[in-house]
Amino acid sequence: MLNEALNSETYENLEKLAYQMSKSFCYGCYQEVKGKYCSSCHSDDNMRLVEGVGVEYGIEWVIEHIIADNCKPLDEDFAHDSLASCYEETVKIGWIEYDLMSAIKILDPISYRIALDEYVDGLKEDHQIVEVGGEDYWVSDLESFIEENLEEVA
Ligand SMILES: [Zn+2]
Repeated sequence: MLNEALNSETYENLEKLAYQMSKSFCYGCYQEVKGKYCSSCHSDDNMRLVEGVGVEYGIEWVIEHIIADNCKPLDEDFAHDSLASCYEETVKIGWIEYDLMSAIKILDPISYRIALDEYVDGLKEDHQIVEVGGEDYWVSDLESFIEENLEEVA
């Protein structure tokens, strides 16, 4: 869950941003709700509406939507490049020479994949990367996005 993967301040700010970027909607009356209660049925059990996207209960889907729409997922080459810079030696096979990570990728693709995944998982445990809606993002990118867009950031 996103609220467990992020520190509480970041999550709360994303939540505020999601409320700011969506509208309260009464599905029963099929109308927008200004304030807490529907002007027709007086219900406070309202959904969130994101125009052009949809209307659902809850706020997590709004958070996922605005992140997918506004933030750039982790570069696919990022883990490879970081690990390559940790293992700078090259390997020579006959007359061809490879950097170590590229050699492992060719010789043992499974071990290669595991190494990349473990590297990214480590950064997730460290709260530097977070998975949102199936994509990985830098937490720092989400925080810059919050800072640029959230009104009334303290
Ligand atoms: Zn209503």
